[in-house]
Amino acid sequence: MTHHFGAALVVAALGAAGASSAIAQPAANAIDAHLAAAKAAAGFDFTGTLARICVAPQTGPGADVRPPPPPDRATWFTEPGKVFDNLYFVGTKIHSSWALTTSEGIILLDTLYDYASEEAIVGGMKKLGLDPAAVKYVIITHAHGDHVGGAKLMQDRFGSRIVMGAPDWESIEKSVNQYPNGKPKRDIVATDDGKVTLGDTAVTLALTPGHTPGTVSMFFQVKDNGRPLTVAYSGGTAFNFQNDVPHFDTYIASQRKMAELAGSLNATVLMSNHSEFDNAVTKIKLEAARKAGEPHPFEIGRDAVLRYFKVMDECAQVARTKLQ
Ligand SMILES: [Zn+2]
Repeated sequence: MTHHFGAALVVAALGAAGASSAIAQPAANAIDAHLAAAKAAAGFDFTGTLARICVAPQTGPGADVRPPPPPDRATWFTEPGKVFDNLYFVGTKIHSSWALTTSEGIILLDTLYDYASEEAIVGGMKKLGLDPAAVKYVIITHAHGDHVGGAKLMQDRFGSRIVMGAPDWESIEKSVNQYPNGKPKRDIVATDDGKVTLGDTAVTLALTPGHTPGTVSMFFQVKDNGRPLTVAYSGGTAFNFQNDVPHFDTYIASQRKMAELAGSLNATVLMSNHSEFDNAVTKIKLEAARKAGEPHPFEIGRDAVLRYFKVMDECAQVARTKLQ
């Protein structure tokens, strides 16, 4: 509620400023105000997200075309690493995949492009001493090629159960060209506030439509040398969807929902599925060099987590205002 009230105040203030000047451009003022708010919220923590969706947003969805040939391995390969007591990075320089270990096996979060999944996920887990066959669940934040690429491999080879939002299962089924190597078969449909539970660990899902209609975000606990911390995992970010007011309203509502949930759950860690947004690859290097007593690079605090969702909210308002 406070978010709506705050937004109303901003609009009211801009309206008053516009009325005082015959040459004022309320829309331009509103765009500037949202951009300033986004920059303030981003600070130096979230410059990647700010640049991607406030400064140079992509507009419009991608076409249903065959994926291009894989890029050179050197452009994406990076070493896997242990990040928390129970969370391991098995991603690339660009995209993240996370292995959450539990008392009864592993929950995998996102699966990269198909060209990277064999080496980064299967190979990465083996390098870290984890058994890829122990992956019981794979949670896919959304059905774009850079996150769903390894789902079929995990389903076919290890029998992992795949969890995804209903509209994104549908988009896979409808696609003609995007899965030349085959599609994952429809499995578990993510529900709002649903839990993926394995042994001693539960991941709480939050449906956050916007980036795609079926985007799933989530909350779960990690441990830093035994100390439990709550992670807010943002499932979809860029504006490569149909750019109209209703789509931005949906996106904005999802970010406000995430902010409310993150606040009430006291999430102090923010993670995403692109290193561009959460600086995962850099933070993993910093973590590896961390001395005893130093803070974990991913533990940014509750206020910073809330600022992350504010950046998404305000940048979406910039884009939305431009449409009016
Ligand atoms: Zn995407």
